Amino acid sequence: MDSRAAPWPYADLDVAALRAGGHRPVPFREFVLKIHQRCNLACDYCYMYEHADQSWRERPRTMSDEVRDATLARIATHARTHDLSRVRIVLHGGEPLLYGPARLSSLVTAARSTLPCPVEFSMQTNGVLLTERTLAVLRTHGIAVGVSVDGTPAEHDRHRSFPSGKGSFGAVTRGLTLLQKPENQQVYGGLLCTVNASADPIACYQQLLEFAPPAIDLLLPHANWAAPPPEPVADWLIAVFDRWYGEKSPVRIRLFDDAIALVLGGAARGEQLGLSPSGVVVVESDGDIEQVDALKSAYPGACATGLNVLRDDFDPALDHPGIVARQIGRAALSDECLACPAVAFCGGGHYAHRYRPGAGFRNPSVYCADLQLFLRHVYDRVAADLNTLVGSSS
Ligand code: SF4
Repeated sequence: MDSRAAPWPYADLDVAALRAGGHRPVPFREFVLKIHQRCNLACDYCYMYEHADQSWRERPRTMSDEVRDATLARIATHARTHDLSRVRIVLHGGEPLLYGPARLSSLVTAARSTLPCPVEFSMQTNGVLLTERTLAVLRTHGIAVGVSVDGTPAEHDRHRSFPSGKGSFGAVTRGLTLLQKPENQQVYGGLLCTVNASADPIACYQQLLEFAPPAIDLLLPHANWAAPPPEPVADWLIAVFDRWYGEKSPVRIRLFDDAIALVLGGAARGEQLGLSPSGVVVVESDGDIEQVDALKSAYPGACATGLNVLRDDFDPALDHPGIVARQIGRAALSDECLACPAVAFCGGGHYAHRYRPGAGFRNPSVYCADLQLFLRHVYDRVAADLNTLVGSSS
C-alpha cells in the first residue's frame, strides 16, 4: 500500500463546522523544502529513516527544478493571496547540503525573483559538509545555518554516526569552527540538540556553549504513546534550565524562552509548548505538500495531505484536518489537557507526541508528566524572582 494513502485519525474534527463557527485559518509563513531526501549520516533516532514512516524510499533523492519552480510559484501565490509581508523558507532534508552549492544558489536567486515579499532563508544541517566554499555561498545568499549537535563527543557519536558506524563529532566540529569565524557570524543561526536524558545535562550544555552559538534549540526526542520515550526528561531539562537561568548573559534557548514567555502570559514561538497556531508547511522532493515531518514518527502517511505543488495551491492545505487541528488551540485538546492546570503553558505539548494508535492526536503528550514538572519548576523560579522584585520595590 502507498503509505501516503493511509487514513487520518481525525474523525471527530469537523472543519466545515469550525469554519461556520468562526475559525479562520492562519496562512503559512514558514515553508520547509525537502531539497534532498538522503543523508550522509545514519543517526539512530532519525524520524525520517528510523521511525514509522518510510515514504522517503518512494521519493526522488533531489527536488527537481520543475518541483522547485512550482513550489516557489505556489508560495508566491500564497503570499499574494494573504498579503504576507515576509515568508521564511527552511532548506531541509535528509541533508540539505547534499543538494550542492550551485543548486542552492539557483534556488535562492529564483525565490527572490519570484516571491512578492522578502524571504528569510535558513537551513538545518548536520554540519559535516560545511566548507569554506559552501559557507561562501550561504553568506552570499544570507542563508542562516542551524547545526545539529547532541552534546559531548561521546554522546554525540553514540547517536549521530556515519553509515560506517564512525562518529561524526570531529567532522561537525570542523564545520562549526568555520561557522564561528567572524566573516560567517552573520549566517550562524545556532545549534539543535536532541535531548538525551541518560547523558549528563550540564556536560551537554557546556559542550554546546563551547561552539558559541547565538541560539540553541533543545528538542525532545520524538515519541508517542505507541513508542514512548526511553526515560523521563524532566530532571535533565530542569538541570539545564537552572544552570541557564543563573547565567548573567544566557544564550537564547527557545524552549526556555517559550516556557518563561508562557508562564508570564505571553505566547510561544516554537512547537513544543503553548497553543500558538502553527503556520508551517512542508514540501517534499516530489512536490507533495505535507505537515511537519515530526509526525513521521507516528505512523506511515501521518504527514500526508494528498496535495502536490505540481497541481495544487497551498490554500487547500489550510482546510486539512491535521493542519486545522494545529491552528485551533484548545479546541483540538483532550479532556485531560482541558482540565489540566498547566494547559495555558503546556498546550498539550508537541503535536506529534500526542499520538496514540486508535485514538489519534486528541491525547495528552506522552511527555505529560515531564512537562508538568518542568513547567511547574519554571513557574516557581519566575514567580520567586517576581516576588523578590515586588518585595524590593515596596
Ligand atoms: S501537562 Fe499534560 S495534561 Fe497538562 S496540558 Fe500538558 S500534556 Fe496536557
